[in-house]
Amino acid sequence: MDWSALVTLTHGLEQFLLPNACVSCDKPVGGGTDDRLVCSVCIARLRALGGGCLRCQQPLPLIGPCRFCSDWPAALKTVRSAVWMTDESRRMIHHLKYEGYWRVGMDLANVMVRHVTKPVPRTLLPIPLGTRRARQRGYNQAACLARGLAVRWGMGVDDRTLRRATETRSQTTLTPDERARNVADVFVATRGREEPTSAVILVDDVLTTGATLASAAGTLERAGWNQIHAVTFARVMPFEVSVGQHDPQRM
Ligand SMILES: [Zn+2]
Ligand SMILES: [Zn+2]
Repeated sequence: MDWSALVTLTHGLEQFLLPNACVSCDKPVGGGTDDRLVCSVCIARLRALGGGCLRCQQPLPLIGPCRFCSDWPAALKTVRSAVWMTDESRRMIHHLKYEGYWRVGMDLANVMVRHVTKPVPRTLLPIPLGTRRARQRGYNQAACLARGLAVRWGMGVDDRTLRRATETRSQTTLTPDERARNVADVFVATRGREEPTSAVILVDDVLTTGATLASAAGTLERAGWNQIHAVTFARVMPFEVSVGQHDPQRM
């Protein structure tokens, strides 16, 4: 028996003995030999975003222009999210971030590819974690999503350009204004105008107020990038942002 056949057999046995349980509903993911960690029922229950502001995709107010993205750096051109934060997407993100299920990143990236139009730039830039959190967790959940997107979109991942200058407080209990102050100037761009392209795609797991993406985009803009797009897996619903009842935006 050759090596690849042995690997296939071992993998099949592992699938048989340890069928993947869906991280959202605990039921077996079922059929086939793929490595999915989220079942198709839970994927189907996710609520995709639609319409909204052309720039940020947030539902528009009844009167006047979008206020959600009006203060963002000009270089931040579009921000897209795949799904709204619901019980299902919250559980998926929780497993990705806190339960060590970094492989969930591929499942969630597949959802993103389905709902988000592929942006023009060819480089994905995951929002970095502070070194302390990166050490605790062992991986950056945004980088897991970026690697999944890179496979599906045929792009590169750059996880060196953007760094976190300081550790930020957990955003969990902060009001929108406090969030904005909490992430102001926390990023540094380690390379600048010598970059071959000034167009990039920021990647993050959750968008709440947009403060983290706006801060990262501002740092890149000052370093010479002028075409910045951003994609996230989930987005906290507007009424939840104002009352502060939601998952931490970035920990
Ligand atoms: Zn499920
Ligand atoms: Zn907007």
